[in-house]
Amino acid sequence: MTDGRTAPDQDLLDLIRDVADFPKPGIVFKDIAPLLADATAFARVVDGITELARTGPGGSPVTKVAGIEARGFILAAPVAYRLGVGLVPVRKSGKLPGATLAASYALEYGEATLEIPADGLQAHDQVFVVDDVLATGGTLSAAIELVRRAGADVAGAAVLLELGFLDGRARLAGTGVELHTLLTV
Ligand code: AMP
Repeated sequence: MTDGRTAPDQDLLDLIRDVADFPKPGIVFKDIAPLLADATAFARVVDGITELARTGPGGSPVTKVAGIEARGFILAAPVAYRLGVGLVPVRKSGKLPGATLAASYALEYGEATLEIPADGLQAHDQVFVVDDVLATGGTLSAAIELVRRAGADVAGAAVLLELGFLDGRARLAGTGVELHTLLTV
């Protein structure tokens, strides 16, 4: 896209660094730190995700953004700010105080449990879920499940980078949530 808001895909992709064998042998880690460090690219990514959340197919306006720990927070927070809505953290196990809802799932590299504050959402909330990378789709699926179990609707989801060869999109299809991705490799 070259509408002045979103850089051509390659410009953004060039700022995502492949780190071989991290955090485990055989995994190619997609490091978004160089992109975050580039003010123009970071702004374009935030603006791009904000636009997707604004024009989502749900019909109802987004009332909350859910960010997935940890790199999802970095993107979700400015998107929530730009939309003028609140942010709900979806965190790894044991980080949230108070009552939480939890969902366990398999990662591309390991296993994890995510939690959401039990009282963080309300029945009328339309929640847009944001993360940095979609790999196998387990993390995003768990986050979607948690938002729904917290009593809210999922209006849509977005990631900066989809690893198409891992077919996380197929796993998400079962949730019925529309997935937006700024970049796909
Ligand atoms: P998955 O549940 O397999 O879709 O994994 C997605 C989550 O794990 C996201 O929160 C990513 O930050 C992280 N992740 C998984 N694989 C990678 C990778 N190759 N590079 C960077 N982050 C990854």
